[in-house]
Amino acid sequence: MHCTGKWKEAFLEEGMDKMNNPIYVTRPFLPPREEYDHYLDQIWQSGVITNAGPLHNQLEEQLRKYLNVPYAMLFTNGHLSLEFLIQAAGLTGEVITTPFTFASTVHAIVRNGLTPVFCDISEDDYTMDTSKIEELITDKTSAILPVHVYGNPCDVESIRKIARKHSLKVIYDAAHAFGEEVNGIGIGNYGDGSIFSFHATKVFQTIEGGAAVVKDMETGYKLYQLKNFGITGETTISSIGANAKMNEFQAAMGLCNLKHVEELITGRRNIVQRYEENLKDVAGIRLNRRKENIKYNYAYFPVLVEEGFGADRDKVCEVLNKEQIYPRKYFYPLINHCRCYRERFDPGLTPVAEYISDNIITLPLYPQLSMEDVDRICELLKACR
Ligand SMILES: *Cc1c(COP(=O)(O)O)cnc(C)c1O
Repeated sequence: MHCTGKWKEAFLEEGMDKMNNPIYVTRPFLPPREEYDHYLDQIWQSGVITNAGPLHNQLEEQLRKYLNVPYAMLFTNGHLSLEFLIQAAGLTGEVITTPFTFASTVHAIVRNGLTPVFCDISEDDYTMDTSKIEELITDKTSAILPVHVYGNPCDVESIRKIARKHSLKVIYDAAHAFGEEVNGIGIGNYGDGSIFSFHATKVFQTIEGGAAVVKDMETGYKLYQLKNFGITGETTISSIGANAKMNEFQAAMGLCNLKHVEELITGRRNIVQRYEENLKDVAGIRLNRRKENIKYNYAYFPVLVEEGFGADRDKVCEVLNKEQIYPRKYFYPLINHCRCYRERFDPGLTPVAEYISDNIITLPLYPQLSMEDVDRICELLKACR
């Protein structure tokens, strides 16, 4: 009796545990409470809560150093940093981009009155296939806007060469690439400018937030104006800006989290290695291919579920969801397939992106995820066959 009771109890507890602890694709890191409180005290002392306050300025300077870039401008979110960077860089006409990204990238182009032109992606790392860029260039093309998707750096050297040959600007959506380096250089130094997202779901979070990084002071100054209504003096408004400033509470979160970001990235790397050990030899499962000479941030763990696996991507999701595990179909649907764009664009023109989008799944990945959970997720996935 006693034994059965215990057994039942344990079983219930285990069941309860699962019910109460669903595993999502990501989970924000929150710093120790006293570290945030320390900055809150400073806010109460200064009485400044927004408009380039002291914490905002500290974070901006620390990020400039961490990312190793000449100029970094903070924004209230990543999306607006991209919209304003496109405006400040003076892009016109057509912009070549990727359909395999978050809606933000393409919305930022369209909301600037520009036309996105979709380039297909590489099967290996899902970034823009640089061998297909030149055929898309017309006399209206002003820029290339690639995405370091999942934190996989684009082929920055080929993109640089193509842009130089055709006098195009290059703006990177580096929302996923915080803290990465390519050939020992901060990833934000490639192209004419880049944006990073500090949204709650990203590797480094400021609740909501983002930054635009640029090389020249002139564009930097324009961005500075644009995010504060174009105000340049007490009685001078010089450009038609809007409001996209980061406030002090966001900056405080950033100052706390920046101190932890290296350990968070190491934690992510350990989880990724465990996933790879579990899944590397499974027929029909293709893992993200990595390149040499890159400092990765392990932002996402995408898995391609192919023909030989014996179950499709949707089946895998279904099975995991039943166990309260919620991976995501990033990036499905493809942007040129979304309701707001499908009348204007033909997803058939980017077949590789379409294939990847139909078969990819990003598994839960965050530093607090336990190795036991990683193993359990992998066992469940393998059992789908
Ligand atoms: C998150 C994200 C953005 C937008 O960032 P927010 O901070 O959420 O506004 C832009 N592009 C990509 C690829 C993203 O994943």
